[in-house]
Amino acid sequence: MTNILTLRVDPKYVAELNRGYSLILKDAIQNKDLLEEEGEIIRLVDHHNRYIGTGYYGHQNKGIGWILTTKEHEQIDQAFFNKKLTIALSHREDYFTDSDTTAFRIFNGEGDGIGGLSIDYFDGYYMVSWYSEGIYSFREHVYNALNDLVEYKAIYEKKRFDTKGQYIDQDDFVMGTEGDFPIIVKENGMNFAVNLNDGAMTGIFLDQRDVRRAIRDHYADGTNMLNTFSYTGAFSVAAALGGATKTTSVDLAKRSLAKTIEQFSVNGIDYEAQDIKVMDVFHYFKYAVRHELKFDLVVLDPPSFARTKKMTFSTAKDYPKLLADAIALTEKDGIIVASTNNASFGMKKFKTFIDQAFKDTNTKYKIVDQYGLPKDFRANRDFPEFNYLKVVFIKKLSK
Ligand code: SAH
Repeated sequence: MTNILTLRVDPKYVAELNRGYSLILKDAIQNKDLLEEEGEIIRLVDHHNRYIGTGYYGHQNKGIGWILTTKEHEQIDQAFFNKKLTIALSHREDYFTDSDTTAFRIFNGEGDGIGGLSIDYFDGYYMVSWYSEGIYSFREHVYNALNDLVEYKAIYEKKRFDTKGQYIDQDDFVMGTEGDFPIIVKENGMNFAVNLNDGAMTGIFLDQRDVRRAIRDHYADGTNMLNTFSYTGAFSVAAALGGATKTTSVDLAKRSLAKTIEQFSVNGIDYEAQDIKVMDVFHYFKYAVRHELKFDLVVLDPPSFARTKKMTFSTAKDYPKLLADAIALTEKDGIIVASTNNASFGMKKFKTFIDQAFKDTNTKYKIVDQYGLPKDFRANRDFPEFNYLKVVFIKKLSK
């Protein structure tokens, strides 16, 4: 193997890499000034020159690349990508044969052996997400592998590494026959409208599939439901289909109104019988208290960080306060669905936030259910950073 750059790992980071942590942190590499071009293959060794792994150079958050193999003589070539994709597809066979669910993830970054790359399937369409310039340099390998291994209507891609994390509007079509969007995908029998060529988001977050099903099948019937940070209202759709008497969806983004109407409509739900509010959730909480509104089922699914003109919200800091506001609006014996995708803490820490909120409001509670990533989002569950999703169903008991 020629032309492979050898990098030395700081002793502090060796054990974790050997334990299977495949993200190469900036601080972990001692001679990173040798790095030149994203996409170059790098070989990591410890301070005794013992081999750790082979990967690629690419900037992604606090990482500068990913380990792809710990077999010293394995080449990172077309065959490597074909092999990883073949294995990934074999883990999703059940999904491909389930006609009730036509949208799922077929490749989940590090969990499927290639950090920085994810691929989602939407009823015959594939959407590839690239998280760094480095992984994007392997584009031909990935598209060749897809061409070899799957049949598709079309392939779309999202480059998620444009200037300072900002998504740049672009035409995301790669090859095949362009779709006529929105297309309707199915998830456990529910319909969702999806657009693969309309900015960074598609209309549905696939990682919440199990939660939507739980809401529909076990928690919604007969409830007055509040969905905060509702985006296209997917949780509200699940609740309405599960027999909620009414749903209220609250999101700040103007686009959420039309998108939520669309999601209700493709499920045959009369959106006029539902409430859809384009407003700041924190204003809505005040409004609800003033009007003495109460709910039996409240979903909290904030972004990890949010900034409005007046305030910033960070789940790591502000979740207890958010929950306290929700507790005030929840009926006794009602359910709060507390969700976060913040990768900087795990389930244990999240539960301390929950406990704190209930203590602060002097309210008793019981955790009745909890969810993490669904099966198609394969991830190394030892590291919260990769196993980021935490959803807890909490029953509000008496004061
Ligand atoms: N729960 C959604 C996904 C939420 S994505 C689903 O299941 O599909 C986060 C959403 O929070 C975005 O749509 C964003 O517009 C919204 N948001 C961010 N800050 C907000 C605020 N202060 N008030 C209301 N919505 C907010």
